[in-house]
Amino acid sequence: MSMSVEIGDLTRVEVDAVVNAANSMLLGGGGVDGAIHAAAGPRLLEACRRLRNTTHRDGLEVGDAVATPAFDLPASWVIHTVGPNLHRGQDDPARLASCFARSLDVAAELDVRSIAFPAVSAGAYGWPITDVARIAVMTSRGWLAEHPEASPQDVRFVVLDERARDVFDAALGMA
Ligand code: ADP
Repeated sequence: MSMSVEIGDLTRVEVDAVVNAANSMLLGGGGVDGAIHAAAGPRLLEACRRLRNTTHRDGLEVGDAVATPAFDLPASWVIHTVGPNLHRGQDDPARLASCFARSLDVAAELDVRSIAFPAVSAGAYGWPITDVARIAVMTSRGWLAEHPEASPQDVRFVVLDERARDVFDAALGMA
């Protein structure tokens, strides 16, 4: 099993599944969500619309996760999760931890080997990157320890700049 951080663009990483920091509507947005939809092509939005018309009529709950194909991305799957929005008073760390744990559950159901996460909730949703990194690393490490036989065993955090990389590095060292 391995956990690592790298600077990069989530839409270009060569992994089986990339996690999207989506919103509850599942119909695209800004930040990493917009980048993933732009790079995956219009079929991703169609797939999200199908979810909204079938299994997810009320959208996706904060802390939950659901997969679609990744279409034009190098990855095979996009796992959409909804982080808590600090600007709306959603300050419960358990909700953010759930984003990582549920995404790993969905990845395990898909039997993928590798998964890449962004810093969920650290952008428009306003969580400090230090909290996000700590929760992401603790939760993923806990999940991997609880599921020693399960896939994925290669968990990557993909961030945009050196500061975020250093923060994740520190969290990886401490946890
Ligand atoms: P949220 O709404 O959950 O806060 P954002 O997309 O606004 O989600 O930001 C989440 C994190 O993803 C931020 O740290 C942002 O810098 C980062 N990010 C934005 N675009 C990309 C990308 N293409 N690859 C990796 N990380 C990205």
